[in-house]
Amino acid sequence: MKIAFIGLGNMGGGMAANLVKAGHAVNAFDLSEEALATAKDNGCETFTDASEAVQGVDGVVTMLPNGAIVKSVYEGSVIGKAPAGAVLLDCSTIDVATAKEVAGKAEAAGYDMVDAPVSGGIAAANGGTLTFMVGGTEKAFKRAEEVLQAMGKAVIHAGDAGAGQTAKICNNMLLAISMIGTAEAMKMAEKLGLDPQKFYEISSQSSGYCWSLNAYTPMPGVGVESPADKDYQGGFATGLMLKDLKLAMEAAETADASTPLGRHAKDLYEQFAEENAGLDFSAIIKTL
Ligand code: NAD
Repeated sequence: MKIAFIGLGNMGGGMAANLVKAGHAVNAFDLSEEALATAKDNGCETFTDASEAVQGVDGVVTMLPNGAIVKSVYEGSVIGKAPAGAVLLDCSTIDVATAKEVAGKAEAAGYDMVDAPVSGGIAAANGGTLTFMVGGTEKAFKRAEEVLQAMGKAVIHAGDAGAGQTAKICNNMLLAISMIGTAEAMKMAEKLGLDPQKFYEISSQSSGYCWSLNAYTPMPGVGVESPADKDYQGGFATGLMLKDLKLAMEAAETADASTPLGRHAKDLYEQFAEENAGLDFSAIIKTL
């Protein structure tokens, strides 16, 4: 397939390279010259205008910072500019309302479109092991699946337009709450005189079992190797977790969903991000 890829940053750069490796021809566009130069080295054809990049393609993939940018790129350079039969895939993490609005406009113009946000960070984007949670019609999902499989290890149809974004923010709200809970329990066990490694051994095989404890232990030198062992560098940045928690709280309000712990997690991460936005989100343990 010939695919236009717009937004070749930390995540998009590796994803576009994996599309090339899978045999797709990739037209790359980004506002950053540096990102375009890397895309060229990775085998993409580069463009200085998004509307030109989408000419003659079978599909368009976007990996952009937020909903306002996604909306302006689709309305200004994709819808009505890409060929009528092209399938459109937005892999950015954005608010549910904008995802539905853009998909509605694309569908009204005759395109199949999915929202397909990802779980997995830069390493998974580079390694082609992302998980995609996909919102859109059955037909749009089937068409998007082939493109997404070249960039990930799991592609799951979540439901109609916006369902991918809903899955993503609910998952990350749960992750934030479980990370804070794990950190609290580990620090409390330590303060009460229990060796944190012993606590890990016990709780990771008891009902405290969870991804934050078992696969991403937030205390250095305890449990599995994680960003905690690298001074909280790399991993999933606190600033990005805060972005997702803000999206989750916005969505909770529109749905009148009660999320007391989600809100509290958002407040704690907001405070922590003031000076630590670049640290891995498990570094929240430092505040306890
Ligand atoms: P990034 O800032 O590294 O990349 C975004 C890219 O978009 C940049 O290269 C920027 O120049 C480009 N861009 C901005 N406006 C543009 C426009 N109008 N036209 C073309 N290009 C434009 O961000 P990232 O870390 O790659 O994240 C991208 C998306 O993926 C975000 O929505 C983020 O929430 C989501 N995400 C990131 C991670 C992660 O670990 N970094 C994990 C999961 C999801």
